Amino acid sequence: MGLADLTSMNDLVSLCKQRGFIFQSSEIYGGFGGCWDFGPLGVELKLNVKNSWWKAMTFREDVVGVDASILMHPTVWKASGHVDGFSDPLVDCKSCKERFRTDQINLSAPCPKCGAKGQFTESRDFNLMFKTQVGPVENTASIAYLRPETAQGIFVNFLNVQSSMRKKLPFGIAQIGKAFRNEITPGNFIFRTREFEQMEMQYFIKPGEQKEAMEMWKTARWNWHLENGLRGEKLRWAPHPPDKLAHYADAAVDIEYEFPIGWGEMEGIHSRTDFDLKAHQQFSGKNQQYVDQVDGNKKYIPYVIETSVGCDRHILALLCDAYRVENAGNPETERTVLMLRPSIAPIKVAMMPLMKKAELEDVAQKLFQDIQKKYRAEYDTAGSIGKRYRRQDEIGTPYCVTVDYDSLKDQAVTVRDRDSMTQERVGMDKLVQYLQDHLKL
Ligand code: ATP
Repeated sequence: MGLADLTSMNDLVSLCKQRGFIFQSSEIYGGFGGCWDFGPLGVELKLNVKNSWWKAMTFREDVVGVDASILMHPTVWKASGHVDGFSDPLVDCKSCKERFRTDQINLSAPCPKCGAKGQFTESRDFNLMFKTQVGPVENTASIAYLRPETAQGIFVNFLNVQSSMRKKLPFGIAQIGKAFRNEITPGNFIFRTREFEQMEMQYFIKPGEQKEAMEMWKTARWNWHLENGLRGEKLRWAPHPPDKLAHYADAAVDIEYEFPIGWGEMEGIHSRTDFDLKAHQQFSGKNQQYVDQVDGNKKYIPYVIETSVGCDRHILALLCDAYRVENAGNPETERTVLMLRPSIAPIKVAMMPLMKKAELEDVAQKLFQDIQKKYRAEYDTAGSIGKRYRRQDEIGTPYCVTVDYDSLKDQAVTVRDRDSMTQERVGMDKLVQYLQDHLKL
């Protein structure tokens, strides 16, 4: 009995497609670069992740939520530095016209695509924001951008939230939403996409308190990844060296996960100083100061600690981490299992009558209706019981319940545990309670 980890991203991509987690966007048209669609199981998984983040971040006294619009006043992106600075340096191969990130290519080597030598253009900066037009007239005044991060929707609402919710420092504002970046090299499945979701929180503090607040959030965020099921040995801290800090930060650290493609950033925790609020005060002409009633009505612009995690990247880490092949190479017993935590698994319980017979289905349907009142469940009658178990293993369903002919006599069902594959006989009247005790949701 051995459990092997995921080694190739392709295996995960194909399971996700086959089992209804994630599809290529616009697949029937050949796909659309850097965009993916979440299928019926993917959307459940994503909701579970978002709920777990929302709960961890906002079920506390000092954090509230917002849901800001994706399109914002274009000056927001001037103030934030994105119009002038959110770019990657690029070169084109003069021969095949392929475009590369200057920092990812050896300029004195031949083109990796066509092999031509010494053919690269001068390096140019390429802005990663998607531009669009708002309103019926196309002119420079109608330019808008799809937000490249959700954070700015929080900064511009700082005073609205603070005053309407009567918040005193320190307090945070959390948000989950789409962000868009015209990435030059999207890839590695949903690791780097052009449209993705961020879960961000800005924690507003008194200047000088950033070290303490940063430590508090570092601990909280690390623990969240563990609580969702990621293995500790697959996580590590990656502090940004002082000379690599973003223009707005005085300290920053990433939480990285060891994907099959290597270590990659999953979440950033940044000490952003008063950069953003100060910039918005300057560009909007609106005072962004906070009046500190606890400290003699002193006025100042708060400092900010930000936590920023990609929902899709965290999902990729969860899927990579949960994917196991048991007894690889043994055709009789080999199985692929997604060992997701019950809180994250898209389907919690599968109900399967042993055969498609009315007397079994009547009982199974009734139990299914009871289970569904509490948990996302699936009713499955297609194929042999072994095949049905394999499918549920592959989608990470923690418990399968079978109704067989004995059930009609003893009023009990068989409950199978996904990870140990042990089976237990449970009385029908105790089934929901049994699931509740074991799922612990
Ligand atoms: P990277 O260095 O990978 O481009 P970044 O440092 O630009 O990321 P941030 O701007 O700090 O990333 O964004 C916060 C989080 O948003 C990242 O940790 C990541 O989880 C997620 N994220 C950023 N860009 C993408 C993308 N193109 N696709 C999916 N998730 C992304």
